[in-house]
Amino acid sequence: MPGSGLAEEVRRISGQNIEQCYHCHKCTAGCPVIEGMSFGPDRMLRMVALDDREVLLQSQDIWLCSGCYTCITHCPNEIDVSRVMDALRQIAIAEGSAIGEHDALLFHKLFMGVVQRLGRSHEAATLGLFKVRSHTPLIQDMGAGLNLFMRGKVPILPKYSRKTAAQVHQMFQKSKLEDK
Ligand code: SF4
Ligand code: SF4
Repeated sequence: MPGSGLAEEVRRISGQNIEQCYHCHKCTAGCPVIEGMSFGPDRMLRMVALDDREVLLQSQDIWLCSGCYTCITHCPNEIDVSRVMDALRQIAIAEGSAIGEHDALLFHKLFMGVVQRLGRSHEAATLGLFKVRSHTPLIQDMGAGLNLFMRGKVPILPKYSRKTAAQVHQMFQKSKLEDK
């Protein structure tokens, strides 16, 4: 039902007019991670409208979305589902909901921590931290990692700029103040 509690919150945070969704299924048909999802983007928008709060906020689907923007390119109503997913993650964390995909949240936190510290992303640092914190064997995926390293896609050392790091740090501080 449009105007329900969750729908209002999602609309406010994401800025998306989810009531314009007429469930044509195009977003779900193009979603690259749909195989791992229980509901998929189309059905999740319906659940938001129906205020199916608990199931949605505890679902793994909100953590599996990779934010690839495929759905907005397929959507006839230009609904950016990735922003809706962001909003649902934000609400789930704020409410202390049971997290449906712990590793995804851990990776997200580590990624943001690296960006905040270095002023830019650094795949090797993020992956190293993730392996340690998630207790994943270090040699798992070693072949793929080595391949990327040999192609120069994963530099061992980050390109650090004090000026950029200071600007990014300011952005994080500003965002914290705005959240209060
Ligand atoms: S493509 Fe757009 S209108 Fe169609 S189901 Fe997905 S969000 Fe709704
Ligand atoms: S943004 Fe998320 S929900 Fe949309 S197609 Fe990509 S992975 Fe799927």
